[in-house]
Amino acid sequence: MNVIFIAPPAAGKGTQAGMLSKDYNLYHLSTGDVLREVSKMDTDLGKKVKEIIDNGDLVSDELIFELLEDKIKTLDSVNGIIFDGIPRTIKQAIMLDKLIKIDYVIYLDVEKEVAMKRAVGRVMCPVCYNTYNTYFDNIDDNKCNTCKVELSKREDDTEEKFNHRFDTYLLRTKPVIDYYNEKGILHIIKNIGTKYDIYENIKSVINKGNNLWLT
Ligand code: AMP
Repeated sequence: MNVIFIAPPAAGKGTQAGMLSKDYNLYHLSTGDVLREVSKMDTDLGKKVKEIIDNGDLVSDELIFELLEDKIKTLDSVNGIIFDGIPRTIKQAIMLDKLIKIDYVIYLDVEKEVAMKRAVGRVMCPVCYNTYNTYFDNIDDNKCNTCKVELSKREDDTEEKFNHRFDTYLLRTKPVIDYYNEKGILHIIKNIGTKYDIYENIKSVINKGNNLWLT
């Protein structure tokens, strides 16, 4: 079973994809995580990718093809893949269709204001990778509750960069939603309740199959 998560920036797709990957034993492939690893490399490519991510732009479709094709080849024995953060353009969606059969597309419909707070308040422990939010969580002295180390922030999680990422999402990624809608595999999950409520809705979509819609 292969599943795609589409959502505005900071809508919680990484969290939901992580839970689903554990419960259904699926490989969680986050292109954002892969690209952040590339951006740490002291190479021309690493520097270029870092600049693009920090500015809130999209890396080229060609680079995504390369990374993805290589990655999918190494995953032929897994139960299925969750694509988190891809496709972000129509070209990527067409490319992905040529590589693999997609069973479900989960669109997390989160309002801009909510996503903005999640982005601007998002902090992460550099040791255990647990994420917190300065608006919603009790954080002691900007330190991880478990590891007690200083929490760090993504460079693209400022208000200005968020706005740019959101505009890019509207322009380039929103059309991808229509693309999957026409194929009959799109499921819209509203941002209602806690992350666990939202997760239950996602699971019920997957357990029921593709004939039912959840709006
Ligand atoms: P994310 O962690 O999904 O928010 O991704 C972080 C950043 O990585 C994005 O703002 C883009 O700069 C880049 N990125 C991730 N996935 C893609 C993709 N499929 N196509 C182009 N750029 C991407």
